[in-house]
Amino acid sequence: LPLIAICGRPNVGKSTLFNRLTGSRRSIVGDEPGITRDRIYGEIEWMNRDARIVDTGGVIPDDEALIPAEIFRQAQVALDEADAIVMVVDGRTELASPDMELARLLLRGGKPVFLAVNKMDTEALLPSAENFRRLGFRNVLPISAEHNSGIGDLLDAVFAVLPEVDIEEP
Ligand code: GDP
Repeated sequence: LPLIAICGRPNVGKSTLFNRLTGSRRSIVGDEPGITRDRIYGEIEWMNRDARIVDTGGVIPDDEALIPAEIFRQAQVALDEADAIVMVVDGRTELASPDMELARLLLRGGKPVFLAVNKMDTEALLPSAENFRRLGFRNVLPISAEHNSGIGDLLDAVFAVLPEVDIEEP
């Protein structure tokens, strides 16, 4: 199955989005060979198509100093294995340099990338999502993971770039 990766700094709502997308079809620990505990995989179905999804923020180190390096390491893994990447930002915060660095890394990677501006819980907040266009993503989608808004548009956009998989007839 194609793989979608969710990237972003801590507290932007990655795991809330992941849970929203996967419902109960998720595995707490990485179920890939050689990968344990630091990434959380789940499955997602949208419009009769299936994909796997990984929350790269599965386990964040306790030591604050290690967090930036860990985010970049996870982003690199996402670039290596994912078919599409969703970077999540907190639309209620100012655009900050760690977001810019992460965006640069992801945009250079050559994979389809999408920016989900999260926590846009009400219509009134939508204009602040525009600030994040400066990150340079062509695809900027305001969402509220908590209130389940914008999620369908995000999935439409992401699934449009995923490779089609042939389902084998039994
Ligand atoms: P992660 O560290 O990126 O995985 O972030 P979490 O999913 O743990 O979310 C961090 C905080 O943001 C939690 O308190 C969530 O309840 C909150 N949060 C997540 N999504 C939304 C949203 O759409 N709107 C608002 N207002 N809060 C959200």
